[in-house]
This record gives sequence, C-alpha cells and structure tokens, in this order.
Amino acid sequence: MRAAFMYEAGDVRVQDAPDPVIEQPTDAVVRVVRSCVCGSDLHPYHSLTAADGPVPMGHEFLGVVEETGSEVSGLSRGDLVVSPFAYACNTCEYCRAGLHTSCPKGGFYAAGIGGAQAGAVRVPQAGGTLVKLPGDVDEALLPSLLTLADVYGTGYHAAKQAQVRPGDSVTVIGDGAVGLLAVLSARQLGAERIILMGRHKSRTDLGVEFGATDVIPERGEEGIAKVRELTGGHGTRAVLEAVGHMPAYDMAVGAVRPGGVISRVGVPQYESAPVGFMSLFGPNVTLTGGPAPVRAYIDELLPAVLDGTVDPGRVFDRTVSLEETPEGYRAMDQREALKVLITP
Ligand SMILES: [Zn+2]
Ligand SMILES: [Zn+2]
Repeated sequence: MRAAFMYEAGDVRVQDAPDPVIEQPTDAVVRVVRSCVCGSDLHPYHSLTAADGPVPMGHEFLGVVEETGSEVSGLSRGDLVVSPFAYACNTCEYCRAGLHTSCPKGGFYAAGIGGAQAGAVRVPQAGGTLVKLPGDVDEALLPSLLTLADVYGTGYHAAKQAQVRPGDSVTVIGDGAVGLLAVLSARQLGAERIILMGRHKSRTDLGVEFGATDVIPERGEEGIAKVRELTGGHGTRAVLEAVGHMPAYDMAVGAVRPGGVISRVGVPQYESAPVGFMSLFGPNVTLTGGPAPVRAYIDELLPAVLDGTVDPGRVFDRTVSLEETPEGYRAMDQREALKVLITP
C-alpha cells in the first residue's frame, strides 16, 4: 500500500509500505475511504527532528473492514466504519464511564500501529473502537461522518465538560476546526449566546453559520475587554478553549464569569499555568478538559449527521488525493486551508 510518513519538520512523503495484517485476535484491517490532516499533525510538522522520524501520520478515518481477528465481534468484511482517533476496548470501567482515552488497552495510531493517511490501517481493539455506519450512506455525507473521528467529538467534549445547557453563555477561543465545531456543539446543547474569538474571517463566518452570535477578532487584554463589554462586565459562564497556547489560556481566565467553567481541548503547549487567587481561585472557576473520548459521543452525534440536521463536514475546505498529502500539510500550515480531506 501507499502511506504518508513524516521524516522531519516540513518533510512529509508518501511511499510504499507493507500492507497491514492482523497481529492480535482483537485487530481489524480497514481499507481507508477518507482520511484527513489534523491541526495536531501540524505540531510535528513544525518540530519533528530527523532522529525521531520517519513516523506514520494520520489518526482520523472512515474505512471499509477488510479482515477481522478471531475475537472481534459485531463487525464484518465490507462494513463501512468510522474510527475514533484513539482506540479503546469500550468495555472496561473507564470506557463504560465514557473516558475511552484512559482505557488501559487503548492507545493512539502511531509508530508500531500505523497511520490513517494510508491505503489501510490495522485497528487494535477493533470491536470496541470502530463504529459501523449505514452501508448505503450518501457519499456527500462522508466529510461530516469523518469529523466524528476527532474534531466534532472534540468540540463536543469541550462543551460537555463545561456542562453547556439551554440558555447558557459561552465563549469559544479558536477558529480552527475544533473551535468551530465547539460552537456547533454549544448551539446543539442549547447555548443562547456564543462568542467566538478568532481572527480569520472566512473561518469565523462559518462559525456564525454554526451558531456563533458574536465574533471577537481581538486578542489578549483587548479581546477579554470585548467579551466583558458584551456580557455586562461579567464574562461568560463557560469558556471552551480550542487552541492550547498560553495566551489562549490567559484569555480563557479573563473571559470566564465567576463560578464558571474553563474547558480545554486545545492540547496544551505549556507545562504550567496560573491557578492562584488572581486567576481561578478568587472567582471560584472550574478548570476541566482533556483529550476527547470521541468514541463516547459517536452514537449520540451520528443521527443528526445522517439526517442532515448538522453539517460539520463544512470544516473541510480542500480535498487532496493520498499522493498529494504533502501538499495538504503545506496548505494547512500556510493557513490556505482550514482542514484538508484526503481521498484514496
Ligand atoms: Zn485529529
Ligand atoms: Zn477500555
């Protein structure tokens, strides 16, 4: 098969790789139908050293089951499936609690397993990981179904962790795919006021279509002042942080209302952050969030995707073939594309 590997920062190559095979009785081999480039793939695209490469890339995909191990139940050859970005058993106490990213048998698509920007993938814990989709699904729905693998579930996790409820006021920090889908999720959960902080107009325009009521392009103290201005000086009860850099954390602290919740799904690029009297303690603010157990949300989010009530796939604004994957990275890195879809 062909597969994308990152050799070092800025160097992605599509090359021949061994076809994946069943290694454990709980594995499945899935032929990839759609995959994509994630914002988180851009972190190694900026920082991977040649000594750490090459690594297989990609962790979001839809595919067709080709083969299943002897202990995999509920899946058959030919099934169309979506895979969460983390695999998990779906039966242990963490999985039953909806915390699949803490499954002791779970893990991530990485070296030793393989990436999704490839012709096929070996999926560990396949019976717990993969979710079967209707086989006759309209091809036009595939981009939206693909968002269930990560960005939609991650945006939804941000809103769920903040316990967004009808009538709520919410600030979303970040206008990448996760931030925009956090807006959509907050709207689905009934939020009334949704303030989107982002400075790329084409993206925040989509955020408005997803349900944002206000857009704030300013950042830092200026951005915080705007949120306060829009909320009678109080800030919003929930802040969903979908960036991961320190200035975004500082904005979250500045934009949250006393007694409110900051929910982070942007992977923190910092090791420490203030939690003292002047930040979280004084105003009784709750800090939550983490890697999204998207497997826990797929069943809940799937019906509205299938019937067209929501169209999260609109975050994809460019499509490349697997062979053109390096160009997809370049376009996302240059911010020419919001999110790049990959076809076989
Ligand atoms: Zn991702
Ligand atoms: Zn588990």
